[in-house]
Amino acid sequence: MADPRPPRLGAEPAEVAAVAAAAPDWDSLAAVARSCVACPELAATRQHVVVGDVPRAGRPRFALIGEAPGAQEDETGRPFVGRSGALLDLLLTEAGLDRGEATVLNIVKCRPPGNRTPKAPEVARCSGWLRRQLELLDPPVVVALGLSAAKWFLGPRTVLAQVRARPHQIDGRAVWATYHPSAAIRFGPNGAPRAGLLADLTAVAGTLP
Ligand code: URA
Repeated sequence: MADPRPPRLGAEPAEVAAVAAAAPDWDSLAAVARSCVACPELAATRQHVVVGDVPRAGRPRFALIGEAPGAQEDETGRPFVGRSGALLDLLLTEAGLDRGEATVLNIVKCRPPGNRTPKAPEVARCSGWLRRQLELLDPPVVVALGLSAAKWFLGPRTVLAQVRARPHQIDGRAVWATYHPSAAIRFGPNGAPRAGLLADLTAVAGTLP
């Protein structure tokens, strides 16, 4: 029988992965992940572990994967509910995609203080949760939003402009890497990231099984 205790402070990535891998379903995984304290700084400063959203019913048609929760996500415990989430929702609708059919996840489940980029050891520790989430939910299509998510799937040398706008077959899934909604906000309504993100989401919509 696997040990169901959540990872303690300073746990190694392999320990987190073992706890995650032992979770038999989404609810059990969410319960242990919510008590994770593997990353000392994040565990001390977060309000919520943002485990992610799952569709109302059945297998997700696609996954949306961001970098890490921001302030509003940390406050509410839900992914992409702040400014980036509002733009994401708008562009999903324009692209003809239904967020309710998606699972919405992040590479790192706790907010990094000041919204800094997650550190490599934090990404490494948190990866076990995401790997198990993908196994349990099995989305056929993944949309990696922004460079952190793109690198998680496609490797540390990934250059977003070189990999976006086409699917990459990884572990039996079609993985699309595209701009993060925060880049679309930063460059404004006429900037390239917003147009690119919408174009990529529209292309994804056209390929969904
Ligand atoms: N940015 C992310 O990458 N994820 C969220 O959940 C919110 C903002």
